[in-house]
Amino acid sequence: MRKKIVAANWKMNLLQSDALSFLKTLRSHDLSKFPQLDVVIFPSSIFLEKMINEYVGKLGIGAQNFYFEERGAYTGEISLDQLKSINCSYVLIGHSERRTYFSESPELILNKLKAAVNKQFNSVLCIGESISVRNSANHLSFLEDQLNDSIGMLEENDIKSISIAYEPIWAIGTGLTASVEQVNEVHNFIRSFLVDRFPNLGNDVRILYGGSCNEQNAKELFSCLNVDGGLIGGASLDSDKFYQIIQAANEVSRIEY
Ligand code: PEP
Repeated sequence: MRKKIVAANWKMNLLQSDALSFLKTLRSHDLSKFPQLDVVIFPSSIFLEKMINEYVGKLGIGAQNFYFEERGAYTGEISLDQLKSINCSYVLIGHSERRTYFSESPELILNKLKAAVNKQFNSVLCIGESISVRNSANHLSFLEDQLNDSIGMLEENDIKSISIAYEPIWAIGTGLTASVEQVNEVHNFIRSFLVDRFPNLGNDVRILYGGSCNEQNAKELFSCLNVDGGLIGGASLDSDKFYQIIQAANEVSRIEY
């Protein structure tokens, strides 16, 4: 059975004091009582080290961005070895905001994915279609292209450390959550792609949903057969809401399919 994962993408939000008080609240809830869940936070990079050192216990802390080269003249960038040197173990790759605002190409995303695999990071790879692609009903072939360009270029063994987040762009930060039918259609499609391409391990890859997922809809979304948790933006900025989402994942992770 796949372990559920609840991940927070804080984007460019929160100050250090907010991040630390969030951690304090989470620590008071004692996440070790959810051994069947992985909980991960992707804060701004400047808080990574402090958060990793502050939080003693079961919480993954990951970087929202990094550069794939090992070292050198890449002003402003952070390498995976540097992240590893502060015990950071998760990375986010291919988020639509990075694809759109920072022009991250499929080639760059593939290089990041390969580098993260080589350096043994846990990666969350994001894919998702725009509203115009969705309205043209070409979303599945668009998503298939995104999968082919990224995880599809890897060897079967490489996928062990990768989770995929399906994040329809039209649902991110809009309050327009994808319906259960829409989520099922895409997540089942991603699962078939994975199993076709990687017959031995494709069933083990976790597929998260992201896009206006919150404490009210999480349980219903996480109950879908191929939804193995969520990547949460807005609702993850509030520790109480985020904890309710963790609880929702915990409730559905007891369901045996
Ligand atoms: C995201 O950007 O990863 C995300 C899921 O955002 P939101 O939950 O705010 O839609």
